[in-house]
Amino acid sequence: MKVAKFGGTSLASAEQIKKVCSIVLADDARKIVVVSAPGKRHKQDTKVTDLLIALAERYLMNGEAEVELEAVISRYREIAAGLELEADIVQVIEADLRSRLTGDASSAEKVMDGIKAAGEDNSAKIVARFLQSRGVEAHYVNPKEAGLLVSDEHGNAQVLPESYANLHDLRERSGILVFPGFFGFSPAGDIVTFSRGGSDITGSILAAAVEAELYENFTDVDSVFAANPNMVQNPQEIRELTYREMRELSYAGFSVFHDEALIPAFRAGIPVCIKNTNNPAAPGTMIVFERKGNGNPVVGIASDSGFCSIYVSKYLMNREIGFGRRLLQILEEEELSYEHTPSGIDDISIILRDSRLTPEVETRIVDRIKRELAADNIVIERNLSMIMIVGEGMRHNVGTTARAATALARASVNIEMINQGSSEVSMMFGVKAEDTEKAVRAIYEQFFQNHQ
Ligand code: ASP
Repeated sequence: MKVAKFGGTSLASAEQIKKVCSIVLADDARKIVVVSAPGKRHKQDTKVTDLLIALAERYLMNGEAEVELEAVISRYREIAAGLELEADIVQVIEADLRSRLTGDASSAEKVMDGIKAAGEDNSAKIVARFLQSRGVEAHYVNPKEAGLLVSDEHGNAQVLPESYANLHDLRERSGILVFPGFFGFSPAGDIVTFSRGGSDITGSILAAAVEAELYENFTDVDSVFAANPNMVQNPQEIRELTYREMRELSYAGFSVFHDEALIPAFRAGIPVCIKNTNNPAAPGTMIVFERKGNGNPVVGIASDSGFCSIYVSKYLMNREIGFGRRLLQILEEEELSYEHTPSGIDDISIILRDSRLTPEVETRIVDRIKRELAADNIVIERNLSMIMIVGEGMRHNVGTTARAATALARASVNIEMINQGSSEVSMMFGVKAEDTEKAVRAIYEQFFQNHQ
C-alpha cells in the first residue's frame, strides 16, 4: 500500500486534478490519497488557503465577509465545472464554509483554524467525487472520524501518539481513500491545523500509521535540486537523499517538503519519494535511510534568511559554572526558542529567528544579560542568513570546511559565524542577508562544478 500526497499546485485547477486522478489510478497500490487545498494556477495567483485566511480575518473583524467568501467559492465552482461534477457539490461547499463562520466562536484561533482547514477538506470531497464520477470506488475520509488527533496548538499542531493506532484501521477499508491534509482534531473536538505547508505532515503520519511501503509526495518539480534554482542556474537534480540530509535541507529553506514531515515516516522506516504531478514518469528523489556516496561530500546547499544573533562575551566564561544555563534560562523566561548556539572560550552566540526578537524583548534581554550575568559585551546582529551545506559524506572527508570557506572568501563574502552540527551531516555559515545568493553560488560552484 502506498500513500500519495498531492500539493497545492496539483489541486489548483480541474486540469491538474485530472492529472492527480490519472496518477492515482495508474498504480493499484495508491490506496490513500492526501490532498492540499487548491494552490496557485500561475505565479500571480493566490492560494485558497490564503483566501481563507483573508476570509477569516475579515469575518473576525467585521462579522461578515461576503466578498472573500465568494472568492473562495468561485475557485471551487471553476474546478467543479471543469471536472463536470454535478452543481450540488458547490452548494455543499458553500454550506460548509458558512457553517464554519457561524461555528464555535469562543476564540479567534478556533475560528481561524476551522476556516483555514476548509481548503483541504473541500479539495478531498471534490477529488473523491471526481473519482466516483469515473466509476471508481473512492471515499472522502473525515479526519475526526478516522481519529487523527493532534495537540490544541492552533496553527502549529503536533500529532498525538494515539492517532497512529486509530489510523491503522484505514488499512481495512475498501476503495481509494481521499484524506484532507493540513489538520486534525484536538481531544476536545476542535479543528487544529499544522503549520503552513502541513499537508506533507498528514501524509507522513498516514504512511506511518498504515505501514505503507512508500510515501509518495507529488509536487511541481521533477526532483529536489542541489541548490535553489532561483539562485543557481540549472542546479543538479538529487536522486537520493538520506532522511537526515533532507531534514537539514528542508529546515534551511528547501521548501519542497515540510521540515517536520519526515519524522513520522522516518520513525516507521518508510521511504519517501518526491515526484512531479506534471511529469510523473521522472524518477524523482528518494529519501532513504542510507545511500551510497558518489564521491561528493556535499549533496545540497540550502539557505534561509531572517535570523539574528545575540553575541555575549565574558572573560573566563569557560570557567564559570552555570553560565550557559542561566543565559538560556533568560531566553526561556522570555519564551524564546533558539536555533543554534555556537560558542568559544569566552563567548557564545545565540542564533534566533529574527521575527521572535521584537525590539521590546531585545531591550529586556540585553538588560538582563548585563545585570544577571555581568557579561562584558553583548551585540545583537540582525538580517543574517544561514547557508547550510549538507551531506553525509562530510563526516569522512577532510577539507570540506576549508573548501567552503575558501569559496566564500574568493566571492568576498564575510563569514559572520560558522557552526558545524554535532552530527557532521551539515555545516552552517552565517552571512549578511545581502550576501546570500553570492554565497550559495560560490559554494555550489566549489562543490558541484569543480567537483572531480
Ligand atoms: N494549504 C496549506 C498551506 O498552504 C497546507 C498545504 O498546502 O500543505 O499552507
